[in-house]
Amino acid sequence: MHAMQLEQTGPASARPLRPVDLPDPSPGAGEILLRVTACGVCRTDLQICEGDLASHKLPIVPGHQIVGRVEVLGSGVTGWQVGDRAGVAWLAGVDGTCVHCRAGRENLCVAAEFTGWDRDGGYATHAVARADFALRLPEGFADLDAAPLLCAGVIGYRSLKMSGIAPGQRLGLYGFGASATLAIQIARHWGCRVFVCTRSPAEKERALALGAEWVGGYDEKPPEQLQGAVTFAPAGNVVAAALSALDRGATVAINAIHLDRVPEIAYANLWWERSLRSVANFTRDDARELLSLAAIIPIRTERESYALDDAGVALERLSRGEVRGSAVLKCG
Ligand SMILES: [Zn+2]
Ligand SMILES: [Zn+2]
Repeated sequence: MHAMQLEQTGPASARPLRPVDLPDPSPGAGEILLRVTACGVCRTDLQICEGDLASHKLPIVPGHQIVGRVEVLGSGVTGWQVGDRAGVAWLAGVDGTCVHCRAGRENLCVAAEFTGWDRDGGYATHAVARADFALRLPEGFADLDAAPLLCAGVIGYRSLKMSGIAPGQRLGLYGFGASATLAIQIARHWGCRVFVCTRSPAEKERALALGAEWVGGYDEKPPEQLQGAVTFAPAGNVVAAALSALDRGATVAINAIHLDRVPEIAYANLWWERSLRSVANFTRDDARELLSLAAIIPIRTERESYALDDAGVALERLSRGEVRGSAVLKCG
C-alpha cells in the first residue's frame, strides 16, 4: 500500500509527512481491511503531526475520517461483506469492560485506542479497522462528502449535545472551521438562533450563508445572552469569551482535544450555575445518530480535495486557516 507517514513530528510548514510504500496490512480476527477512497483531514491530525498531541506510536499513518470499501474480512467478522462501503472514525476500539464502557460512555474508556494516533489511519490506500467500530454511511453522500461527517460532523454533534442546547434556543459558535460548518446546519435544523464569533472575514460570510443570525469577532459580544455555546478554536481566551456571553444556567462545551491555556476567568462569569465542560471523543451511538441526521437534513459538506501525496499541503493550509470547510484526501 501507499501511505503518507509521520516518522517524526514537526511544524506543518516543514512537511513532516513522508510518502512510503508498505506491504498491504492484513486484518486480524474481528478486523476488516479497507481499500480507502477518501480520508478527511482534521485539526487533530495537524496537532499529532506537529507534536501538540504527544505521539502514541511512531511511525504512524494519520487520518481518522476514512471512507472505503471492504476488501478483506478477518476471521470471525459478521455484518460486513466484501465490497461494502464503510466509514472509520476516531474511536478505533475500547475494552468494553471498564466502568465507563459499562456505563454507556465508551468515549471515556480508559483503554480506548484512536485511529491515526494508536493505530494507522487513512492517509493511505489501505487501512485496517475493527469491524465492530466501522460505520455504515448513508446513501446520497459521495465518498469525499461523507468523510468530513466522520469527525468534524460527529464531534460537532456531540458538542451541541454537551452544550445542552435545546431546539429554538440561542446558540453561540466560537470559531467556524469544518466542525462548526456542519454543527450550524444541525442547529438550524433544530430551529436554534445561531450567533457566530470568528476572526476570519471568509468564515463570517460562510456563517451568514448557513443561517447565522449574527456574526462578530471573538472580542465582540452577541446581542443576546446565549443558552449554550460551543468553542472550536483551540484557544483559552476564546473559551473565556464564550463564558462571558452565557445566560444563567448555560454551558460552554469546549470542542478541543488540545487547548493552548486556560486564562484566569472572573468568577462572576461562572456564577449562576454556568458551566464549562470539555468534549472528549464520541461514542458509536453519537456517530450513528449524526450519520442518520446528516441524511435527513441533509447536511451539505463544503470541501477542498487533495491527492493523497498532497496531505502535507492540506495540513499546512489548515494550519494557516486557509481551508474552506473541510479538506479531504482522494486516496483511491
Ligand atoms: Zn472501557
Ligand atoms: Zn478529528
